[in-house]
Amino acid sequence: MPRIYQVQYVMDAYTGLTPLSARVILDSSNFRKETMTAENNALVFSSVFLVKNPPNDERISQLADWGKKLRGSGIVQGTEGNLSFRTRLGFIITGTNVPVDSITPETASEITGVVYGLHKTSVYVKGMAVPSRETLLHSQIYEERPDVNAIFHVHDTAMMKKAEKLGIPVTTEEKPAGSLELAKEASSLLKLNKEVNYFILKSHGCIALGGTVDEAGRLVEEMRERG
Ligand SMILES: [Zn+2]
Repeated sequence: MPRIYQVQYVMDAYTGLTPLSARVILDSSNFRKETMTAENNALVFSSVFLVKNPPNDERISQLADWGKKLRGSGIVQGTEGNLSFRTRLGFIITGTNVPVDSITPETASEITGVVYGLHKTSVYVKGMAVPSRETLLHSQIYEERPDVNAIFHVHDTAMMKKAEKLGIPVTTEEKPAGSLELAKEASSLLKLNKEVNYFILKSHGCIALGGTVDEAGRLVEEMRERG
């Protein structure tokens, strides 16, 4: 028997509070719920899987190409970094603990809504992979910047050291990875620096914004070459 889950409202990634189609009908076998935690073990968000099929978007292969490039040049190591691009429904982001040189439709998921509840946040997912724990960071940036269609987040320590010399903006406070507080730090910086497409999350990593996937990828490389 299919089960019916009532979803009345979702916080759309970039248009605010919008009603989602009144009912989401899912086979119970298709319904998975997983909880992400930050390093400090604080509850960050639950992933609610609406559809278990991998997302179908040709830009996933562009992300994959950039992931291999960034890994090859040593800018990204291990399972660090997360890449995303905007879609009609929200955005597609790499899965958690997925090395950026292994991006496929099966290891990336589409985020179609984020609900900031009183006690917890739920992220609505179409796909097979548990989304990156920096999903809220990407969501807040897309909300703040309607002109941005792609976000690359990498832990480029060389750039973090050069930031001051190059006049790159840095967030004011260090916040735990994956936390909503970290996402809010990024959106506060963007409120103060309207035109900025590259900035540093204090003691954490770098964010590159682009109108396209290629623009965000090229910006990561270009900044590396400066200084
Ligand atoms: Zn990070």
